[in-house]
Parts: sequence; structure tokens; C-alpha cells
Amino acid sequence: MEGLQSLSQMTSWLVAGRTLFLLIHILGVVCFAYIVAKRVVPLLRAQRDLRFDQPLVRMGRVLKYWLGQWKQPRYRFAGTLHIFIFAGFILLAMRAFAVLIVGVSANFVMPGFSGKAGDVYNTVTDYAATVVFLCMAIAVIRRLVFKPARYAVPAKYGKSHTADAIFLLALIAILMVADSLFAAAKAAGQAQQGQPVEALAVFSLPWMLQGALAPLALPILGRVYFGAYLLHEVTFYFLLCYRPFGIQFHVETSLFNIYFAKLDREILKPVRWGVSDEHLDQVKSFGVKTFEDFTWKQMLDFYSCADCGRCSDNCPANAVGRPLSPRFLTIKARDYSFQRYPVWGSANNGMPVVGNLYSADEIWSCTTCGACEAECPLLVEYIDKIVDLRRGLVDDGNVPQSLQKPLKALESRGNPYGKMEKKKADWTKTKDFQQICDVKVVEGGDGTDTLYFVDSITSYDDRMQAIGRATAKILKHVGANFGILGAAEKDSGHEVRRFGEETLFMALRDHNSEALRASGVKRIVTADPHAYNALKHDYKDVPPVEHISQVIANEVKAGKIKFAPVENANSVYTYHDPCYLGRHNQIYDDPRDVLDAIPGLKRVEMSRSRDRSFCCGGGGLMLFYEPKEEQRMGVKRVQMAAEAGANVIVTACPFCMVNIEDAIKVAGMEGKMTAIDLAELVDQQIARESPKAA
Ligand code: SF4
Ligand code: SF4
Repeated sequence: MEGLQSLSQMTSWLVAGRTLFLLIHILGVVCFAYIVAKRVVPLLRAQRDLRFDQPLVRMGRVLKYWLGQWKQPRYRFAGTLHIFIFAGFILLAMRAFAVLIVGVSANFVMPGFSGKAGDVYNTVTDYAATVVFLCMAIAVIRRLVFKPARYAVPAKYGKSHTADAIFLLALIAILMVADSLFAAAKAAGQAQQGQPVEALAVFSLPWMLQGALAPLALPILGRVYFGAYLLHEVTFYFLLCYRPFGIQFHVETSLFNIYFAKLDREILKPVRWGVSDEHLDQVKSFGVKTFEDFTWKQMLDFYSCADCGRCSDNCPANAVGRPLSPRFLTIKARDYSFQRYPVWGSANNGMPVVGNLYSADEIWSCTTCGACEAECPLLVEYIDKIVDLRRGLVDDGNVPQSLQKPLKALESRGNPYGKMEKKKADWTKTKDFQQICDVKVVEGGDGTDTLYFVDSITSYDDRMQAIGRATAKILKHVGANFGILGAAEKDSGHEVRRFGEETLFMALRDHNSEALRASGVKRIVTADPHAYNALKHDYKDVPPVEHISQVIANEVKAGKIKFAPVENANSVYTYHDPCYLGRHNQIYDDPRDVLDAIPGLKRVEMSRSRDRSFCCGGGGLMLFYEPKEEQRMGVKRVQMAAEAGANVIVTACPFCMVNIEDAIKVAGMEGKMTAIDLAELVDQQIARESPKAA
């Protein structure tokens, strides 16, 4: 090799460059296409998933979450690093393509990138390669020295992923070095041959390498030039074909995963896409029992996980030592899919998922709080999968012992406590309360415009009945013409559905929907976020629903509710976002606005608040489930409130109240911490004209 010829004319071991590079291209592309085709096989055998609607909305999400990397900065350091790497990759994509072509077509220039535009692009990509290389070095140091806890792999989930991560980071670093070395050798060679030199960006990696190569003799430069190109090609295709075997597959799949991500996350997926409720009796098997019962999108999720650990880092079940880590729900399924659908060999599938891949405890441990989904930068979905797995368990009669009784009671009595329907309105009948607030049972056509949907826990639990009475007093104070369904109201079925009992949920929903429609009311109000979520998203054709915190916030703004100042100057309040009010329905500001409208109320924010709120332990049937755990979620939450400097936790959900009050006792913080529902606090602080009305 004499000096710098065109790559295609150079020879190595008697093979002409053009032939060698063409062979590498063909081999690389064929291998990649074959591997991807094999990876698509399980998706073709999966269940349907209707994700082809609203292309413009979906494109918008691709721009926001994929191109805009919207969720990355939630973890500032790792997120910024990822943004730089991603931007570098995007910028370098065209350069990599052009470099590939140059090997077989010496004078190839990307259309539109000759002249000035090409110079600008080359400068930008010189820096991009440098930045990506530096990011790789930082990422390796971070993995090896700082070892962020969320990357650790507990022994029960297999071996550490560090070696694989370092290997991939090193491959990308090699690719950047090869690319830069190629450009540097070319520029150094051009200079020695007295040809016009392609200027390299000052202080970039290619620029520095050019400085280092300048003293080399031209024949050596020619070998470096050819070697760098060969290294680039081989590394490029090796990376391309290696990625579908591990976490780096997300580089290929993430764009599609985000495009096809669920648009209406609040709505649970149906038992089977395309099968209406009326035809569900024709479905032979409910839920996910074998791997092929997952939908193709659920499988795409498995391929798209980047193993960043953010979901599990925010999962309350994982935090308290329950046998559940969303990250490993995905990683285990991905590895299982690779094993059962190998690239070489035939598919070997059909095994039950629960019992082999997952334990039943793992599946029942989820509170469906949504923290994992709120955090995932690649919009991987969990709740639908967990509910589908539960549907499969329920269909096979595998319901945890502690849940069997409440489920039976729901079936026979319409509430999980097995209480008589006629006692449903007993909470309204205490003497003191009746004197100031008469709550009527709505009868169709009586002109009542607001229906207070109480739901089971507030109707039957002695402590939570106080929330019901406070809610009724607030509605009366603002002049609402309201009533309740009384014995005609059954449990909203919210948790029943999330525990996989779809048929029972449908029976409860249909009963309540009919009663709500027959009542003739114009709107529904509830103080229970679970009922709110069910009525808003799981029910159809019922009047619009508001949570009491929204009603209060609006009435405060309208001037109908005025507050007396708080009396205890030592009280410091913090607001705990209930998952089904906050994360699932984005109601974050109304409760806070209400608290801030109370004169003299000191409020602090917990570090985990709003869409990063930490679940109290779950509501509905979760109250009956006895999980394996090291600590209660509620106890952790109470400790978070204490760390924030609060001594009063305000929440807006009866289930949060049960869990938090219980946790205060378990944590031994009685006397130091109290809990109160927003409705109770508002009722207590309303400035009423007549003291009797309070
Ligand atoms: S929904 Fe909540 S409890 Fe369930 S896996 Fe996600 S973060 Fe964990
Ligand atoms: S599911 Fe999402 S958040 Fe969880 S590890 Fe994978 S990419 Fe990260």
C-alpha cells in the first residue's frame, strides 16, 4: 500500500478493498436481517393489540419521548449523559452511512453534503464522535467506580449485567475511535501528499489523532487509514448484529415502542383486543397464561427495555422488599423469549408463565400505582401486563387465600366486607350529623343534580365514614342539590378489575351504571380516587365525575368556601398524592391549592411527590392481601413525611388514610404524626356563619 489511495483500490492480503468491504456489507446486512426476522417470530405468534390509530398523535409522542428524550432528565446525570449519546448517534448516523459507502464507492458524497454544508456537517460530527467517546468513558467509570444502586442485580434475578454493559460501551467507544482515526489518517495523509486537507474540528478527537499521526511516514499512514476503516466496518456490523441479543436492542426497537405506546394509559386493556364485553363468553381463556398470550406490543416492551433500572428504583413494592421488581419482570421475559425463540434452532414455547418465569407472589405484589410507567423513558407498560397475568391466574382459580372471602362477598353482597346492602347508608344516620346534614337517597326524577358516590370503604368502615360525612357537609355548604344511591350502590369494582376478576367487575359496573343512569343526576362526586378512576375510565355512559378535591378547589376560587385560620401554629402539613388521583389522573394542583388557601397553614413537600409519589400500600382488595415484605409501604411513606419536616399528612383517599394511620402506629409515631383527609380538613376549617352548621 503506497500512501493514501482510495479505499476501494487498496488491497489487503491480496483482496481488493472494494471486494472486502462489499463482502463485509453483505454479510453484515444479511446477518442483521436474519436475526431481526427471528426476533419478530414471537411477535407474530402473540395476541392482537390495536395500536394503529391516531398516527399524528403517535408521531408527536415519538418527537417528544424519542427524539426529545423527554423523560431522560428525570435522572439528571444519567439522563444528560444519555441525551448526549443519543444526540451524537443521531448526528453520526448519516456520517456512518456515508463512511460505509466510501469503502465501495470512493468518491461518494452524501447528496446535499458537498461544499460548505459538508464542511459544517463534518465539523459537527467530529465533535459528536468526541462527545460520544467521552460519554462512553464516563459511563464506564460510573459503572465500575460509582456503581449506582439501581443497576445492581439481586442474586435471585441472576448475574450482574455490568460486564455486558461495559462490553457494549467499549464497542461504541471503539467505533468512535475508528471513525475518528479514519478521518485523522485521511487528513494527515492528504497533508503529506500536498493535497487539499479536509479540515478537522479543533480539539475534537479526530483533530487530536491527526496531530498524533502527522509524523508517521505515508505508507504507515496508509495502513492506519485502511485499518481504521476496516475496524469501523467490522465494529459497526458486529454491534448491529450483537444488539438484538441484549439490552442494546432498544436502539432499534425504542422508536417503534414509543410510536405504539398506549395513548390512554388510564384505561385498562380489554381481556382480548377486538372482543366486546358482550362476546367475552366466547373467549376460551382469559389473561396471560403462556408467553404467547402476551400481545405483540407487550413483547415489544420486553425487547425495548434499556435496563436502566428507573422503574424498579421507583417501585414501592421493590422498595419494601416484596418479591417484585418491574425491571426484572421485563428482563426475565426478554431472556425467556430469546431462549424459547432462539436465533439458531427452532422455537420451543407454550409453557405456563406463572410458575416458570414469574411467581404468583410477584404478580399479586403490585399495587398498580403506576410509578414504574411514569418513570420509564421508553414508555414500557406494566399495569396491563400484571392485570393480564392476574386474569390468567383468576381464570385458573389461583386466587390468594386471603382474597377469596372478599371476592365472594363482592359477588354476593356487592362489597368486600360482606355487609348488608341496607346498611350502606348507615353512616348518614348518626344523630349529630343528621341534625346538620340530611343526606337523601336519590330517587329517579326527584330533581337531584349531584350524586355522591360513596363506595364500600367509606360506607362501611367506622373511621372512613367520617370522610363521607365531611364530604356531605362540604357539598351542603356549597349549596349542591345532592344525594346518594344508598343500598342501590355497589362497590365500584375498581380493584376487582385490577385484581383480574373481569366478569365480577362487569357485573358491578353494569349494576352501578344502571342505578346512576336511573337516578337522573347530572354529575357524580366522590371522595374516593379509586371510585373516581373507575367511574371516569372503566364505566361508560354515566354522568361526568369529579373528585371532591376538584369541587372544593373550584368553590374556593368562586368564593363559596372561605377558611378560618389554622389554630395550631406548630402543625406542619404535607400532602400525599394518592396514586389514582395524581399519577393516574394528573390531579396534583387542586388539593395543594386548597391547602394553600387555608390561612396560616404551613405546607412542606415530600421529596417523592406528584408523579413520583410513593404508594401508601394500595387500596381496595390490596387491603386484604398479605404480601411477603420486609416493611410496610405506609411506614416508609410516614418516614418520608417526617424527613420533610411535617407532622400532619393530608391525603385525599380513604385507602391512603387506612394505610397511613396504620403506619403511624406501626412506626411508633403516634403523637408525633397525624393523618387527615382533605375533606375532613376542609370541613374543619370552613368559616361558617353559624357555628351550629359545623
Ligand atoms: S405499578 Fe407500582 S407496584 Fe406495580 S410494578 Fe409498577 S411501580 Fe411497582
Ligand atoms: S422498563 Fe423502562 S424504566 Fe424499567 S429498566 Fe426498562 S427502560 Fe428502564
